Amino acid sequence: MNAFDVIVVGSGPGGYVSALRCAQLGLKTALVEKYTTLGGTCLNVGCIPSKALLDSSEHFHNAQHNFKTHGIEITGLKANLSQMINRKNEVVSQTCAGVKFLMDKNKVTVYHGHGSFSDANSILVKSTDGTETILQGKNIILATGSKPNYFPGMEPDKKRIITSTEALNMTEIPKRMLVIGGGVIGLELGSVYARLGSEVEVIEFAPTILPTMDAGIGKEFTKILKKEGFKFHMEHRVLKVENAGKKVVLTAENKKGETVTLEADYCLVAVGRKPYTEGLNLDKAGLKASERGQIEVNEHLQTALPHIFAIGDVVRGAMLAHKAEEEGVFVAECIAGQKPHINYNLIPGVVYTWPEIAAVGKTEEELKAAGISYKVGNFPIKALGRARASMDTSGFIKILADEKTDEVLGVHMIAPRAADLIMEAVTAMEYRASAEDIARICHGHPTYSEAMKEAALAATDNRALHI
Ligand code: FAD
Ligand code: NAD
Repeated sequence: MNAFDVIVVGSGPGGYVSALRCAQLGLKTALVEKYTTLGGTCLNVGCIPSKALLDSSEHFHNAQHNFKTHGIEITGLKANLSQMINRKNEVVSQTCAGVKFLMDKNKVTVYHGHGSFSDANSILVKSTDGTETILQGKNIILATGSKPNYFPGMEPDKKRIITSTEALNMTEIPKRMLVIGGGVIGLELGSVYARLGSEVEVIEFAPTILPTMDAGIGKEFTKILKKEGFKFHMEHRVLKVENAGKKVVLTAENKKGETVTLEADYCLVAVGRKPYTEGLNLDKAGLKASERGQIEVNEHLQTALPHIFAIGDVVRGAMLAHKAEEEGVFVAECIAGQKPHINYNLIPGVVYTWPEIAAVGKTEEELKAAGISYKVGNFPIKALGRARASMDTSGFIKILADEKTDEVLGVHMIAPRAADLIMEAVTAMEYRASAEDIARICHGHPTYSEAMKEAALAATDNRALHI
């Protein structure tokens, strides 16, 4: 009765999507999740709740700073954080319930409890009430995700020294907030509280924020965030952070070797995430995690044992929900005997600040390092009529195209609705379009997408029309 074609451990976007696809393909599938709700980091404490708070705080920011120019006057404007958190919780519970509905509809058997290997074909599920169930699986998919990372001296106490999880459930708007790490989480959650009135200071080890993106992005976005009140301490090495009662005290070393002390109400530690395999008893299946904590896999996402697969944040590659989903579908289709494919070069990256930031393909730095000669087409958002109409004039779209063939190799943007705009670039690059191809497509007017066409025109003989 407890024998399955596939057992999936972990119900994040990797695990639940994989279970769905397995079921669609006629495989008898079990999904094991240790928490009471499905959806993993993404739905419970990641993508969805952070975007809910980003949207609420953006409305507040616009009401406070931009409505008057639009001719809308409000008196008595106030941010009600507990209502924002309640709304966010409602969005999360509806989304998680949606996943449960999908599992039931597709006849995936869900087990709530901690899953661990008994042997290479069995998963022991221990529920919180102590019940133990052994599941037998012809195939096992590990989708156990990741947890917040931190370094010595910055251990979160989850009270004043917090991770993204606590930052999504604050009971007060901090007057001052320190953020260690100018990456995606630091800038998204830093934006939430900066918009609500917190003084946000970012302490970053690298010379630019978003250091893994195209260098032009970090430079331009620093200027935009400074205008919103962010302060930046670049090239600072954090030595320690202490909870000193009603405040936190952070000590860092700047690039001159001087000691810098900063104080605030809270310190958000956002220096990356680490793969999670705790209590999985990989050794009982004859597997082990790498030194970095990842489960090692081959190009088919198989571990050292061909019937055990691993996907999402627990394996190499970008820690993104849509990457985990693609891998979930890929593995299900491999198990069903199909021959799927993932183009890892075309996984878009998005930062949901305002303006949004999005990118796909190679950065200028990567092209230079690979010795590939390229052309650049750049178009500023402020030159768009649509942008002036909505008062969203910051940012640019940059297209990098091969010098000889004109093939689009990378697209990088800071733009209103960049999260959606980037999909034009992904589609074009999937079909190996040239910049000329994009330049010749008729784009609706007035739209933000006209900046894609203009950047493509700029990349082909510098013939942008509206600049
Ligand atoms: P997870 O979502 O981490 O799910 C793993 C699941 O496995 C969890 O539910 C866990 O409880 C369960 N589990 C672990 N071990 C066991 C076990 N032994 N037994 C049973 N269950 C187990 N990505 C984006 O693409 N876009 C975004 O906007 C975005 N925003 C984010 C915002 C924040 C604040 C954070 C923290 C992350 C964000 N991410 C975003 C990243 C995204 O959440 C992850 O990349 C994604 O959730 C990874 O999916 P996964 O399925 O690999 O793992
Ligand atoms: P990140 O890797 O995006 O950023 C971490 C930042 O911390 C980097 O800029 C790094 O240089 C800096 N850093 C590292 N060590 C430091 C130190 N000792 N002192 C100061 N700075 C230090 O990681 P994150 O922001 O924690 O996000 C974790 C993961 O979650 C990322 O992989 C990201 O892809 C994913 N995520 C994605 C989204 C999204 O897609 N919109 C949103 C949130 C999180």
